[in-house]
Amino acid sequence: MPGFELFGDKEKAQVNEVLDSTVLMRYGFDGMRNGHWKAVELEKALSQRMQVDYAQLVSSGTAALTVALAVAGVGAGDEVIIPTFTFVASFESILAIGAVPILVDVDDTLTLNPKAVENAITERTRVVMPVHMCGSMADLAALKSICEKHNLLLLEDACQAIGGTFNKKPLGSYGDLGVFSFDYVKTITCGEGGAIITNNKKFYKNADHYSDHGHDHVGKDRGAETHPFLGYNYRISELHAAVGLAQLARLDEFLSIQKRNYSILRTVLEDISEVSFRRVPKGGIENYSFLSFFLPSMALAEEVHAAMGDEGVDGCFYWFHNNWHYYRKWEHLTERKSLGKLPKETLEGLQDLETCDFSQSDHWVGRNISCLIKLGWSENEMRQRAEKIAQIIKKSL
Ligand SMILES: *Cc1c(COP(=O)(O)O)cnc(C)c1O
Repeated sequence: MPGFELFGDKEKAQVNEVLDSTVLMRYGFDGMRNGHWKAVELEKALSQRMQVDYAQLVSSGTAALTVALAVAGVGAGDEVIIPTFTFVASFESILAIGAVPILVDVDDTLTLNPKAVENAITERTRVVMPVHMCGSMADLAALKSICEKHNLLLLEDACQAIGGTFNKKPLGSYGDLGVFSFDYVKTITCGEGGAIITNNKKFYKNADHYSDHGHDHVGKDRGAETHPFLGYNYRISELHAAVGLAQLARLDEFLSIQKRNYSILRTVLEDISEVSFRRVPKGGIENYSFLSFFLPSMALAEEVHAAMGDEGVDGCFYWFHNNWHYYRKWEHLTERKSLGKLPKETLEGLQDLETCDFSQSDHWVGRNISCLIKLGWSENEMRQRAEKIAQIIKKSL
């Protein structure tokens, strides 16, 4: 997954153009900027690559989720359905706009189980937010038909799956809104950054205004702009956008390296009959940033993961005990530890996570190990890693 591994002259050249112009901000200063509009250029390039009408850059993936929810008019008391296996940004963004995160089970895709989604819908539900964890995707066809039936928005968190596709469409472009992160560990990086993509003109315009204090961006003079609604500052800087321009141009190169390394590991693990693989929904193609597999029991998965650590195999994750990605370790959410008071609607709407039955999630996540696929590993290194991982698994069986 990590774009930071392959970083060089092209990124430097882009950043130097911005530094030479001395304009680090994406808006205004027209006369000083030597014609450099890196954020605008990256938005154009991203919307083309993702085959959508509009892209709006923001300061992070978390900001992108927040902006995506805000521009769709989601607010106090509205419910947003998210998976139990995700990143903390999912519920942070929902809480930030006063809405209520509703957690539901994942299945053998390690993403939202469509049946669990349907069971969780209430009259307050507004959005279904699948999170395409570790390079593969939720069953978007099933989720879309649920959303259509119940008049809900589909918001794809594609932060970890940029470059993957579903039914030939880039991940992020299938729903009403899609979100990417360009933080330092994602497949392509700006250092920090994020984006919202959509074909909905109103959502795009709202995102353009909302992420810059509600400025309407009409006319040349920033001082004369009006504010059709309240906003916030979620702007990206020109420096970050410049890095992203160089990185996005290399996305297909990164994807092909990931696919090569993933295939080497997969071929070796396929020979072990006790190993089964994460299900990729029909019509989906991963971005190959991780290889995720299941072992027959939780105890075995824990043992294999511990042995990987002992044997110095880095980059393999056992998410079940992970602080950032699985509901079991989110005490701050479970115990509602906010610095200030949470809104009344949030407190009333939140699930009691100590008593929720997420045994289906535990069944899958508890037996899963996900191995990061690095760009820097040569074919030879990848073969050696794959053999070592296979040996560790066989020794534990
Ligand atoms: C990284 C990530 C985010 C948030 O992105 P930031 O740019 O780090 O704020 C959101 N969702 C998922 C699934 C992520 O992996």
